[in-house]
Amino acid sequence: MSDTVKPRAIPFIPISAPRFGAEEEDLVLQVLRSGMLAQGPMVARLEELSAAMAGVPHAVAVSSGTAALDAALEVLGVGPGDEVITTPLTFVATLNAILRRGATARFADVTDDYVIDPASMAALITPHTRVLLPVHLYGLMADMERIEEVARRHGLGVVEDAAQAHGARLRGRPAGGFGLGCFSFYATKNVTSGEGGVVTTSDGDIADRLRLLRNQGMRSRYDYAVVGHNWRMTDLAAALAIPQMGRLAAITERRSHNAATLTRLIGPNCGVVTPRTPPDRVHAWHQYTVLLPPGCDRDRVVAGLRDRGVGAGVYYPRLVWDYPPFLDHPLVVRNVTPHAAEVAGRCLSLPVHPGLGEPELARVAEALRGAVTA
Ligand SMILES: *Cc1c(COP(=O)(O)O)cnc(C)c1O
Repeated sequence: MSDTVKPRAIPFIPISAPRFGAEEEDLVLQVLRSGMLAQGPMVARLEELSAAMAGVPHAVAVSSGTAALDAALEVLGVGPGDEVITTPLTFVATLNAILRRGATARFADVTDDYVIDPASMAALITPHTRVLLPVHLYGLMADMERIEEVARRHGLGVVEDAAQAHGARLRGRPAGGFGLGCFSFYATKNVTSGEGGVVTTSDGDIADRLRLLRNQGMRSRYDYAVVGHNWRMTDLAAALAIPQMGRLAAITERRSHNAATLTRLIGPNCGVVTPRTPPDRVHAWHQYTVLLPPGCDRDRVVAGLRDRGVGAGVYYPRLVWDYPPFLDHPLVVRNVTPHAAEVAGRCLSLPVHPGLGEPELARVAEALRGAVTA
């Protein structure tokens, strides 16, 4: 026996960590043993749970959050000549979905809470505007009551990019219950099926048409009603997500508790701006995102966190249109959005997922202070 004590490696704290238990294993095995892997009863069950989550009667599961956005814009008839207003502080999927329809993308600015500003959206409306596409960034709902009001006044469709916002609420009304709600079940999202998505809607007609679009435009075998797609989800994927949907309230509660703990532990003294939840909202805390001090070298902070065993993320380092495919794109209108530009330059997301307890959160806060002041 050696009498030297090896230092135990401190485990790295990742920015996201999917958690599955016996329930997921049982349900996935059930599908495997049934031998029926394609869209079936598990998908139907996940749709019921998704509709309940959004507080609407209908949900149509699809193969990804991106497919959900594609389907929502297509079912609303968005096409060439139409304009869609969204936020420049989003994942590229939001913009790609607009451009795939041949529609023009316009960008409104964000508020201090990082989500799209309804007044800035209203100012961009033209006679060609067809749809308002807010993103519930980091799990915080945009001000959907005001957006709904703007949409009603101008006769516009509303699509919510709720990919990050399972279970988020505004004055008691859930995300996905205002317009067509587009959720993602991608591997890093608050509820995951590996890959997957769902569209929620209160409109039965729209739900019917979404079901057609998802499955080759087919009403029953060889009865084709429209030009369609293969956007189906597998029963295996649905089986993975179903138990997490059952635990969603607990997952959100835990993320929320972790966020409050981080805010307390980071404290007001290191020049970092911690995120704020408007009192009328339940935040889903997909990401816990701070603003670094102005002029602070973010790459250095990310590296410093990594050296201290903490994974950080930058969502998103540049405005969504600020990449080669979009810079000279004729359908991309690069509106001036100073608040969004400021956030993109200073934002940093820290681990907040339900796998973290008090000791890990203390390490995250300590590492941040160390990396910022180093
Ligand atoms: C993840 C995400 C999407 C796309 O979802 P996928 O399931 O990855 O296709 C769209 N919008 C936002 C804001 C996202 O975070």
